[in-house]
Amino acid sequence: MAKKISFYASKPLPAIGQGTWYMGENPTQHADEVHALRAGIDLGLTLIDTAEMYADGGAEEVVAEAISGRRDDVFLVSKVYPWNAGGQRAIAACEGSLKRLKTDYLDLYLLHWRGDIPLEETVSAMQQLIEQGKIRRWGVSNLDAADMQALWNIAGGRECAANQVLYHLASRGIEHDLLPWCQQQQMPVMAYCPLAQAGRLRSGLMNHPALNELASHKGVTIAQLLLVWVIHHDGVMAIPKAGSVAHVKENAAALDVVLNQEEIAVMEKAFPAPGRKTPLDMV
Ligand code: NDP
Repeated sequence: MAKKISFYASKPLPAIGQGTWYMGENPTQHADEVHALRAGIDLGLTLIDTAEMYADGGAEEVVAEAISGRRDDVFLVSKVYPWNAGGQRAIAACEGSLKRLKTDYLDLYLLHWRGDIPLEETVSAMQQLIEQGKIRRWGVSNLDAADMQALWNIAGGRECAANQVLYHLASRGIEHDLLPWCQQQQMPVMAYCPLAQAGRLRSGLMNHPALNELASHKGVTIAQLLLVWVIHHDGVMAIPKAGSVAHVKENAAALDVVLNQEEIAVMEKAFPAPGRKTPLDMV
């Protein structure tokens, strides 16, 4: 039974979605990327995460093709550059995303990271986009605990519907303060790089002896262990990017894998949390 996450009352979502960074960059991979995303939707990975940044809008065009004829089956997330996140620029950036995505609304629109535009202006632009029907909700990405506190203290800031941050077994800094805070506020956390970019962000992760042993004992892959570990946390979903149907199938199958406390302990012993405040990890 796939773990559902009640992010939003109107639209419960499976705890694993699909990322799209690096899609749309190489025309020879275009068809595979579209197929992978479509296969993911068929398997229930209905949240798709993209951004105006990815391939300069090219990833959004790949997504448009993948969701063609099934817009209502997916929960579409895109992100605005910090320097576009205010006033008319925000409206224009969102309209650009909608045009590339060939849709007339986003389910969630995120500030990609905090820049120089005051959060007040971003919140106000997001509210305007909701009023115009162009987005259903808004949220943020790469905001650490202090940034969230700043957001909380401004008018309308508490309408923020998600924080998307880097989180994987080998990068557990958010467990110190940001994650518990988000859980307390019932603020959904969307874990990006849940596979540590297939181990590129942390050498030794994908062939760690303890993970190898656990994976073979359970008859799963290390990638599946990593995804299940991320989503066993309350209110956390994972958005792995997969450019092949084989990877998508493996990721979707992770929804049916369960880790017990002992297994979680084995993984966390191999990759302990820092146990103190560390700056938010980002890529
Ligand atoms: P991930 O941790 O999702 O890793 C992606 C890599 O893992 C790809 O090389 C992919 O290969 C590989 N992979 C996927 N599934 C498997 C599998 N089952 N077994 C082995 N390898 C696998 O990294 P991302 O950086 O892509 O992060 C995920 C998403 O999060 C992004 O695509 C993007 O949407 C979002 N993101 C957001 C950021 C932000 O600032 N808000 C920053 C970074 C990412 P292949 O493609 O060949 O399948």
